[in-house]
Parts: sequence; structure tokens; C-alpha cells
Amino acid sequence: MENITASEIAGFGVGTLLLCATIAAPRVDSFISASQRSSLGMCRKCGDLKIIACSTCRGVGSVKEGGLIRFSFMDDLYQLLGGDETGVKTIPCTKCGAKGHFRCPNCSKAQ
Ligand SMILES: [Zn+2]
Ligand SMILES: [Zn+2]
Repeated sequence: MENITASEIAGFGVGTLLLCATIAAPRVDSFISASQRSSLGMCRKCGDLKIIACSTCRGVGSVKEGGLIRFSFMDDLYQLLGGDETGVKTIPCTKCGAKGHFRCPNCSKAQ
């Protein structure tokens, strides 16, 4: 259910990339902080996951057609609760090629 907050923020279309990047990371960051990662010899960027969640689609691989701004928090909440899509179409995310993530630039450089 923690996605509700992320969807709410993204739903307002505020801050766009910076905000989304912050939202996309918490799954890793909630377990291991960046400083802990480096002291453990892990990749600071991805925590040795080798992938980074896409900031545009928030790791889903698809985005709502028409962008994020026109959809309210209630629409997102409704969908998260398993409701109908209320006519909202999703299109493949062009930023990540609908994968939902990128290869970590740090790790792919090292290998
Ligand atoms: Zn990495
Ligand atoms: Zn994406």
C-alpha cells in the first residue's frame, strides 16, 4: 500500500523526474542506505541489484496515456484497490523500453 503515496505525488505531476527518482528508489533504500552500501562494498547506485527502477514509469514499464497530470489521486487509489481502469489507457514506457528498469550504469561500467 506504500505505492499510494508515490502515486499521489506523481499524480500531481509535480517535480517530475527528481521526485520520481526519489520515489522509485525506496524499495532498496528502505533496506540499505547508500552509506551502508558503500561500507559493504556494494554499488552505491543500485545496491548490487544491477538495475535501477525507471523514474518515468516507476518500475511498472507502462505509463498512463496523456501523462500523469490529468489523473487525480482518487483515480490512482481506485486502481490500486482493484477497481476498473475508468477508461485510463496505459502505453509502454518509452524511456525504459517498457522494461521498468535500466541496467545500473555503475555496474555495467565495471563489467
Ligand atoms: Zn550498480
Ligand atoms: Zn519506464
